[in-house]
This record gives sequence, structure tokens and C-alpha cells, in this order.
Amino acid sequence: MLSDVSLQAYNTFGIDVKSEYFMKIDSEQGLRNIILDDRWKEVNILLLGGGSNVLFTQNFAGLVLLNQIRGIAITKDNDREVHLRVGAGEGWHAFVQYCVDHNYAGVENLSLIPGTVGAAPMQNIGAYGVEVKDVIETVEAISRSDGQLRIFSAAECQFGYRESIFKQRLKGKYFITAVNFRLSKQPDFNISYGDIQKVLDEKPHESLSLRAVSEAVIKIRQSKLPDPAKIGNAGSFFKNPEITLDHFHKLKLNYPTMPGYPTGLGMKVPAGWLIEQAGWKGYREGSIGVHDRQALVLVNYGGGAGEDIKSLAFRIQKSVQDRYQILLSPEVNFI
Ligand SMILES: Cc1cc2nc3c(=O)[nH]c(=O)nc-3n(C[C@H](O)[C@H](O)[C@H](O)COP(=O)(O)OP(=O)(O)OC[C@H]3O[C@@H](n4cnc5c(N)ncnc54)[C@H](O)[C@@H]3O)c2cc1C
Repeated sequence: MLSDVSLQAYNTFGIDVKSEYFMKIDSEQGLRNIILDDRWKEVNILLLGGGSNVLFTQNFAGLVLLNQIRGIAITKDNDREVHLRVGAGEGWHAFVQYCVDHNYAGVENLSLIPGTVGAAPMQNIGAYGVEVKDVIETVEAISRSDGQLRIFSAAECQFGYRESIFKQRLKGKYFITAVNFRLSKQPDFNISYGDIQKVLDEKPHESLSLRAVSEAVIKIRQSKLPDPAKIGNAGSFFKNPEITLDHFHKLKLNYPTMPGYPTGLGMKVPAGWLIEQAGWKGYREGSIGVHDRQALVLVNYGGGAGEDIKSLAFRIQKSVQDRYQILLSPEVNFI
């Protein structure tokens, strides 16, 4: 166990805060031992994966556990599908590549999303028309209060758009140790979303495969999103808001170019469009700002403080609210 450790290398925003205590954890039992140890009973514990969905706004008073619980095991296998149990500390993109290599379909559209497998159910990660909930069977998690293992069915996880029970009612109460996936051996390609088909068309002689889809997604993402290794960021800072049809039609009168996607109950409006129209794209304030190609991404050019990014986020939120009467909710977890 280390104390007073800088977390700069452990969050993709690159925010330089310190954790009072810091430990790497590589087994479920190791995690349980800490939970049951009297020394840590009253201490705030944060289980951290890749740090790609957090904004540290101050030093962390407590224990940061860096999740390195690894392992991929086949638990069921037949002609049609394979079931995999994956340790929560496995890298998400490495897991996707493992599936693509083995011709297991279902996660190829989620290529290049940073972070760990264990954090994927937290906000039901999604991209290019696919959400991780589509392939999750169960989630294994250990209770913070008594170290007991609980297995959550997909229904019990209460997945929603960038939501789950772990981000809502059970926030901070469970540590996810493994995720059980059900993947198909008969790919049902989902290439209608975004530019995937267009990128695939650039190589007309290549046959459609999981590898081709994964590579197309990687190419598109690399052209659109800033690489956290170069500019600190946590991907989309806000969720795309859903508004009522009535609200949408009223706004359309004043903003005829406003895009919207029907959701069944209302309309989803791209948060990036709202932020860009409110004049924030490329805005810079010292070491922090709004990315100049993607208004949904707040950035730390180096040396920025989490508190300043939070304050910028609130100002963006207010200006969008004033202009469109739409409240943006952050996707990133403030810590
Ligand atoms: C460039 C970039 C692009 C991105 N693109 C996407 C995208 O397309 N779609 C998308 O959905 N997200 C995207 N994200 C957000 C992010 O990658 C995902 O939310 C990812 O799942 C976070 O994983 P992590 O391991 O880094 O989580 P962390 O940032 O380490 O943790 C996030 C939160 O989850 C908690 N947590 C982490 N692991 C566990 C666990 N095992 N048990 C309990 N709680 C846990 C943490 O305590 C924290 O509160 C992007 C981020 C970046 C930087």
C-alpha cells in the first residue's frame, strides 16, 4: 500500500491530484480482504479502472484501488454462441480484439472505447448503434459493506442509456469483479450507423468480417475523437438529452437545422450540436477548453485543474439551458 500517490497517470484527463492511499488489486479475494479489514471499514474506497470516465476535482481522501483483476474463461460453448467470464480489470479494447480474433460477434462496434471491462456495465457503454447490455448475461460484484458476492442478471442491472443501477441506486455500494458475456458465432453485422458502411466501401474487395467492422470503427473514432495520450479528455462529457416531441417542435421553429432522433417517447438531440451552436466549440481558457473538432469533449491541454473543468462544464450547461431550455447531464463521474 502506498500513500500520497499522484493519480495523474491513472486518469485520462491527466488531472494531477493525490490519493491518500493507493493499491493495485489483482484478485477478487484480495478485494474482499480489504473490504473486511477493520482498517478500511470507515475509509472511502474508489475502485478505479482506466480512469477514462472520471473527473477528479480534488485530492482523494481515502483508498484508490486500481483494478487489475484479469482473466478470460469460456464458460459455455456451442455452434451458435460462446459465453465468456471476463475479469473486471481486463482492458476493454483488448477484450474486443480477443473477440474479433476468435470470431465472437457482438462487441466489434465497441472497438477502441478506453477503460476496463468492469466499468463497461457501469454506464452501459455504447457506440455505433450497440450497447454493452446487448451482450451481457450477468455481472458479478462484491458488496462494499460485507464483501459478499452478488450476481446481477442483466435485468437487475437496470441498464439504460449510459446508465445502470451501479451508477444510480447502488453507486459506490458494489465493486464489479467480473462480467459474463454471451457472444454470437453467427455475426449479425450492424453497419448502418455513422460512417461504418462508407469506410467499408473504401475497400470493396474485402469481405465483410468482424475484423473489417472493428477496423472501420477504429478508423472513424481516430479521426473524430482526441487521443487521451495526446490531449487529456474523458470522451463525451455530457449525455445526449432526450426531450419531449412538443419541446422539440417548438425549438425547431427557431432552430430549423436542429437534429433529433426519435426514441419512442421523445427526441434525442445531440449534445455536441447544442454546445457547438451555443458557441463553445474550440473555446479555450488557459490549460483547459472545449475540443476544436468535437464540442462534446472537454479537454485538458496539460496542467489543468479538475475544478476548472467542472466550472467550465457548468457554464456550458447553463448556456445550453438558457438558449434551448434543455438541461445537459454529465456522463463523466465527478470525484
Ligand atoms: C477518448 C474516449 C472515448 C470514449 N468513448 C466512449 C464511447 O464511445 N462510449 C462510451 O460509453 N464511453 C466512452 N468513453 C468513456 C469511458 O471510456 C467508458 O465509460 C469506460 O467504460 C470507463 O472505463 P474505466 O475503466 O476507465 O472507468 P473509470 O474511469 O476508471 O471509472 C468510472 C467510474 O466507474 C467506477 N468503476 C470503475 N470500475 C468499476 C468496477 N469494476 N466496479 C465498480 N465501479 C467501477 C469508478 O469508481 C468510477 O466512478 C470514452 C472515453 C474516452 C477518454
